[in-house]
Amino acid sequence: MIIKLHDIEDEIEVRGRTDGSRFLRPEDTGIVFMAPIEWALKVRKIGRDVRLSGPVETVVRLACDRCLADFTYEVKADLDIELAPKESQPSEADLELSPDDMNLYFFEGDEIDVDPYVYEETIVNLPFKALCTDTCKGICPTCGTNLNAEQCRCETATATELSEKLRQFLKEN
Ligand SMILES: [Zn+2]
Ligand SMILES: [Zn+2]
Repeated sequence: MIIKLHDIEDEIEVRGRTDGSRFLRPEDTGIVFMAPIEWALKVRKIGRDVRLSGPVETVVRLACDRCLADFTYEVKADLDIELAPKESQPSEADLELSPDDMNLYFFEGDEIDVDPYVYEETIVNLPFKALCTDTCKGICPTCGTNLNAEQCRCETATATELSEKLRQFLKEN
């Protein structure tokens, strides 16, 4: 949704829905949007800058990093960014002087398209490690059995082998 800044005197609240799947990039692997991204943002003029803040929510389907099973994940995030007019963008030299100040956003002209920002907020709030449950046991590296569903025989064998190797190692050192 594009917000026209000249329509805003001081602050407005805008609600909308964004189809997140439109923005998926090659690096956003394994993410399936199960619902639109719903957002309710305050758009506030601060001098020449604009602040966007408010809740961003959606539901995605992810694949578990350990057992590869699909699971749904509810994203509840809060967007809070400030954008400056493009013409005030600091030069590269200035940016190098302030490496801490990484969250710089810019808009051009009189419009802000909020969709890329709510999408980005969704992506950064996905878990770094996607797990179906905190206690997911994963799949057996030897036979491929999903260890959440059943126990295979390899695990104990591997464990014995490992402790044997460890014993050998300790003996030799
Ligand atoms: Zn899992
Ligand atoms: Zn196994």
